[in-house]
Amino acid sequence: MIYKRSSELFSQAEKVIPGGVNSPVRAFKAVGGTPIFVKEAKGAYLYDEDGNQLIDYINSWGPMLLGHAFEPVVKAVVDKAKKGTSFGMPTEIETEIAELAVSMVPNIDKIRFVNSGTEACMSAIRLARGYTGKDKIIKFAGCYHGHSDSFLIQAGSGAVTFGTPNSPGVTEGTAKDTLLARYNDIKNVEQLIEANKGDIACVILEPVAGNMGCIPPKDGFLQALRNLCDVHNILLIFDEVMTGFRLAKGGAQELFNIAADIVCFGKVIGGGLPVGAFAARNEIMNHLAPLGPVYQAGTLSGNPLAMAAGLAMLTAINEDEELFLRLEEKTTYLYKGIDKVLTDADIKHTINQVGSMVSVHFSSEKVKDFDTAALGNNDRFKNFFHGLLNEGIYIAPSAFETWFITDALTYKDLDDTIAAVKKVAKSLD
Ligand code: PMP
Repeated sequence: MIYKRSSELFSQAEKVIPGGVNSPVRAFKAVGGTPIFVKEAKGAYLYDEDGNQLIDYINSWGPMLLGHAFEPVVKAVVDKAKKGTSFGMPTEIETEIAELAVSMVPNIDKIRFVNSGTEACMSAIRLARGYTGKDKIIKFAGCYHGHSDSFLIQAGSGAVTFGTPNSPGVTEGTAKDTLLARYNDIKNVEQLIEANKGDIACVILEPVAGNMGCIPPKDGFLQALRNLCDVHNILLIFDEVMTGFRLAKGGAQELFNIAADIVCFGKVIGGGLPVGAFAARNEIMNHLAPLGPVYQAGTLSGNPLAMAAGLAMLTAINEDEELFLRLEEKTTYLYKGIDKVLTDADIKHTINQVGSMVSVHFSSEKVKDFDTAALGNNDRFKNFFHGLLNEGIYIAPSAFETWFITDALTYKDLDDTIAAVKKVAKSLD
């Protein structure tokens, strides 16, 4: 495939945008080469500026669960835009989407909309601190909760891909309030709580990690966290920015039947527009301004275009009883196909899957936390990535990312992908 126009556009972009991209994960720094510039997308496919068609396994890093340019979302946004794009005043549609979200997700009474997953998680921990009157938080190495200061401590995703899991610019004062635990290691969390008795406001985690590749919670891990939090009066925050409305209508809370105290959303909830949200029971949410003292605000929060897109998206998800089953079947089909091809080619690998999240690590070790995720053979990943790209398959340009499966994928797309992996596998050693 030829990426001449993309290369030219990237050179131009580099002059006026740091690294040529507005979010580091889009750069090909970890795998080499230049990013692909997208012209348009429809369903499961991207069309780039050179005229290539690519099968998309990133899907805007999650939001496009139902495929690109999903008609009901496009129509809702276009219709809304004609009536004004922002008011900074309440609109009825905000209540409509809030009611729908509250009806779909367990254990929440109220939801507040923001503009990104970062804002949702940042606001959630402020609320947890305000509610409990305690300062420290526990996060897990390799989990990513956006780029606000408290979370850039052993963060996953782009932060680890580019070798800066602890970002300069985060003060020591902030960093000391973020305690780090090992994912899937409940003993480690117990020790941290013991050593910081009475100081911990919340434990925040991705209930299925997606920012060190896909890592499922071990059996009993989430329940054990729930119990520990109950005993020590700590709030349990599920960052469902990736998993929300993706793993089930009610996200990971529903899938694993575990109640979180605060839930964060992003990605799917905005149908591809910039939306995040955080939600909880009344007793917690009523601590937020203007009802309570915990301040949080946003000029564009609840923006009508964003709410229209989100409402169309959630409505489509809510009305489709077969969606999550279909997504899981497609993902399992892909996973088994890739697993067989790599096994036949004698390539060491581990594939983790939960619902429509899946990722390939080039290591035979079970991948259960950040340390085991980091054991993957990165050179092999690079070759895998570029091999697939050459075959018209677009996966994330980093081994520390999950693949996001969309319902727009057909079984022919999946077969084509497996065939591409077979071809690429030959050249991996
Ligand atoms: N939490 C999780 C679990 C995420 O995956 C991400 C983004 N990948 C975020 C938070 C931050 O969301 P945003 O990029 O919309 O700020």
